Amino acid sequence: MITLSSYIADQWVKGTGKTTLLLNSSTEAAVAEASSEGVDFVRAVNHARAAGGPALRALSFADRGAILKNMSDVMVAHRDELLNLAMDNGGNTRSDGKFDVDGASATLSAYAELCKGLGDARYLVDGEAITLGRSSRLTGQHVLVSRHGVAVHINAFNFPSWGMAEKAACCIAAGMPFITKPATATALVAWRVMQLWIESGALPAGSAQFVAGGVGNLLDLMGPQDVLAFTGSSDTAVKLRGHQRVLSKGVHVNVEADSLNVAVAGPDVEQGTPVYDLFLKDVVKEMTQKTGQKCTAIRRILIPKEKAQAFAEDLADRLSHTKVGNPAVDDVTMGPVSTAQQKKDVLAGMQRLMGVAKVLTGGTDVGKLLGAEAGKGFFVMPTLLMANDSNNAGAVHEHEVFGPVATVLAYDTSEQVGVLAARGEGGLVASVYSDDKQFSQDVFFALAPHHGRVVVGSEKSAGQAIPPGTVMPSLVHGGPGRAGGGEELGGTRGMMLYMQRTALQGFGPWVESVASGGKRV
Ligand code: NAP
Repeated sequence: MITLSSYIADQWVKGTGKTTLLLNSSTEAAVAEASSEGVDFVRAVNHARAAGGPALRALSFADRGAILKNMSDVMVAHRDELLNLAMDNGGNTRSDGKFDVDGASATLSAYAELCKGLGDARYLVDGEAITLGRSSRLTGQHVLVSRHGVAVHINAFNFPSWGMAEKAACCIAAGMPFITKPATATALVAWRVMQLWIESGALPAGSAQFVAGGVGNLLDLMGPQDVLAFTGSSDTAVKLRGHQRVLSKGVHVNVEADSLNVAVAGPDVEQGTPVYDLFLKDVVKEMTQKTGQKCTAIRRILIPKEKAQAFAEDLADRLSHTKVGNPAVDDVTMGPVSTAQQKKDVLAGMQRLMGVAKVLTGGTDVGKLLGAEAGKGFFVMPTLLMANDSNNAGAVHEHEVFGPVATVLAYDTSEQVGVLAARGEGGLVASVYSDDKQFSQDVFFALAPHHGRVVVGSEKSAGQAIPPGTVMPSLVHGGPGRAGGGEELGGTRGMMLYMQRTALQGFGPWVESVASGGKRV
């Protein structure tokens, strides 16, 4: 069995004491073990601040981009190996593995390009100079400089590669070192990616460290120049945000958490049209890709009342053809959820939804499985429900079932779409399917305050459509309220988490000369 070690102060160190087993989610066989007990976190933070930070800050954006390019290239070169690991630990099909692994290398590559474009500068200049006095002799200018601390990255179990890489990309680009911790249950592929990054020789000493297992006393060591970037459940987010040291030292925190993402079929959508096909395709993909374990997966499907039953039946029919089983079997299109706890939570969540909605396909019983041993594996079926009353479907609007589960909600008016969507209390992404420009615009402005991203699918864009669950490095990812209130990616916006925006005031020409050494964004 593989023992995952941590990478601390430029050395791989094995944890001591009790280990956590990492399983194959289809067979329940142990594939690796991890423990961070005994890891010297004081050494890790000191090394990052003393060695990694200064080394990265001394580099231009273009040089940092070259590091990111290298990190991307080694992942591409070892793609097959990484996909096999992703399939072995976490329940991914090969296609799910690609979504995670290729998403990671693509994001690193996108930031490599971005950094190349930022050139020889080492700081960013935010907007134009502002005249403060009677003339431009006294001006102000916002400047963004790298923070002088360490970034701690804590990631969720569902995207071990992408989650680690998207945070690393923004952090390295901004000139800040990181200590990254994947969720233990699915850490195998993250650990191998980290090995590849280190073996590439591209990363300066102290710029990247890795924890296999729990974070120990790491949060107790955080200081005022540090950043805590967390992706995971709202419950854990509350604990981390409320951590005494994090609060008392004013640690800069970013949270990416739960979301009850909506997909809205417009009143103009008719069966058999291109926009209807796009709607069906996206909903089925977002429900079943990664077995629904995506923060951006569609959980609530809003359909005009008079069409709700017919559209829901089409969705149920497509979902019922999903080939569920062990991803080692070629035909399988949806694997198990990642862990036994996940399965327990998904089934309990379905029960809650069933209190206010009826099951159209799937449900708590496991149906036909391909290549799975009886009684083994964390399998659940793709499950579509239909709310009895959209306005009184509390659990549907409040409870994220983190699996292949979604509920249809019938609506009457575009105003009701906004009201129902807002009951999710803040989401990552909403998608709207319509060729009616006025409806799309009205609904966009109703959804926008409550979502980090709104995707509008129409006949005109269908040929190039990207499913709503795909997070783009050039666009922000995050959302208000329940979704954590955070923001990642979005080009240079994602780097700003790791930089201090400082307002520089002074003699205009001098301020301008300082600004001219940075890259204006
Ligand atoms: P989780 O249980 O909150 O765990 C997330 C991470 O936090 C793991 O690395 C976990 O480590 C760590 N952790 C747990 N308790 C901790 C503590 N007290 N102190 C420090 N670290 C702690 O979430 P999950 O089950 O992995 O992920 C599923 C959730 O993540 C879903 O709700 C999903 O919506 C959300 N998610 C959001 C996004 C987004 O971008 N918004 C993306 C992906 C997932 P261990 O594994 O070692 O316990």
